[in-house]
Amino acid sequence: MSEFLKSVYRSFDKAAQFTNIHKGLLEQIRVSNAVYRINFPVRFGNSYRVIEAYRVQHSHHRLPTKGGIRYSPTVNQEEVEALAALMTYKCAIVDVPFGGAKGGVKINPRELSDKQLERVTRRYTMELLRRNFIGPAIDVPAPDYGTGPKVMAWILDTYMTFKIGELNAAACVTGKPVAQQGIRGRKEATGRGVYYGLREYMQLKSEMKRLGLTPGTKGKTVVVQGLGNVGSHFARIAHEEGEMKIIGVVEMEGSFYNPDGIDIPALLRYRKEKGTIEGFEGVQKLPKQDDALYLECDVLVPAALEGVIHSGNMKKIKAKIIAEAANGPLTMEADDFLTKKGVAILPDVYLNAGGVTVSYFEWLKNISHVRFGRLEKRFQEQHSGQMIDLIEEITGKRVTKRDKQFIIKGADEIDIVRSGLEETMVTAFYQVYEVFKRRKHVNDLRTAAFITALQKIANDYLALRIFP
Ligand code: GLU
Repeated sequence: MSEFLKSVYRSFDKAAQFTNIHKGLLEQIRVSNAVYRINFPVRFGNSYRVIEAYRVQHSHHRLPTKGGIRYSPTVNQEEVEALAALMTYKCAIVDVPFGGAKGGVKINPRELSDKQLERVTRRYTMELLRRNFIGPAIDVPAPDYGTGPKVMAWILDTYMTFKIGELNAAACVTGKPVAQQGIRGRKEATGRGVYYGLREYMQLKSEMKRLGLTPGTKGKTVVVQGLGNVGSHFARIAHEEGEMKIIGVVEMEGSFYNPDGIDIPALLRYRKEKGTIEGFEGVQKLPKQDDALYLECDVLVPAALEGVIHSGNMKKIKAKIIAEAANGPLTMEADDFLTKKGVAILPDVYLNAGGVTVSYFEWLKNISHVRFGRLEKRFQEQHSGQMIDLIEEITGKRVTKRDKQFIIKGADEIDIVRSGLEETMVTAFYQVYEVFKRRKHVNDLRTAAFITALQKIANDYLALRIFP
């Protein structure tokens, strides 16, 4: 069994011993409920390529199942199974009412043209359709490593071609472009959720004292590994809203460092324009690829792929907190070693759940056929305006124009999405933290998060009376 799947199973087993869930039910929760493996041909020019692909629905205890689709040359069945299982626990922790799923297509999206990618995506979607593995009430894909809004738009278009007249068709996939029935705030959601989770943790006085830090995010040093969708949004939000100091970044082109804090918005703009960090003036390049991972810092944020911190490099990690923005960035050995060393690890299964949370909001928007804020925004504005008028009249004082504008402004879709995401991440954080604090032998947040998830899923099964 692959290291990654083993590590998910191990976290599960570790947590299971702290619950009194029936053994049979535990086994049912643990295993993948359905695995679909396909090889399909795609024509590229004059030749054909056979493509290996998967969709795993880990748990049907709630429907639809939900989870991203990964495009990567290293995709394999066990990796998709591990990721699908994480989705089940993630959804349970943040009370997103879905089972977990994940898809994988074994291709390198960097080597394919847009046309080729579109072909692969449409064919993959057709394969899912043929087996009833996609649909608003069945299984709802989303972006993951190597995919994004464009791919989601192709999936929707293919789905709609075959499902003419299906009222809720748009809810068959999330992470769509805003103009194609997506939702504002989905792109930044995972990174923003990571920031909210980290911020909550860093407010805890006792935890910060143990780590030798003062509470709060302001001025704390951070290293981010991976500036993809998750890492780049996290870095920007941590820099702008958390006033954190991002001192290092690791990307494919190497490690970059600035002890005074990198100007993240400038770096992201530069990278977007030039396609590389190389040549950006505000940083110094370190000699080896991963050097920034080993910098002295308060928080290390692995935000790319699984297994980046392993037995070979774990001893070099000097961070006090590891915020798992990616899925499974620590191998089991690294997890054990760093936990024992006293490093605080904020687990993926909670911390990166912001993506699927906003996917849930997008799905709600699609099945309700109305944009959040549309109905009540003007009413709110008028109501607040009247309140201010009244206060001015009673007190005889005037509220400044700026304050007035701020108070009156009704909530737009983006405000509602961010507020819902913050509420979700904060509530889930304290649920997990409560378990961590109250259970005597639970000494890591990952186990606490898994216990939280298992209890919720077991309750669902019991309510379904599948296990009377
Ligand atoms: N791929 C993302 C994850 O790993 C998002 C899944 C979704 O939005 O359904 O959580």
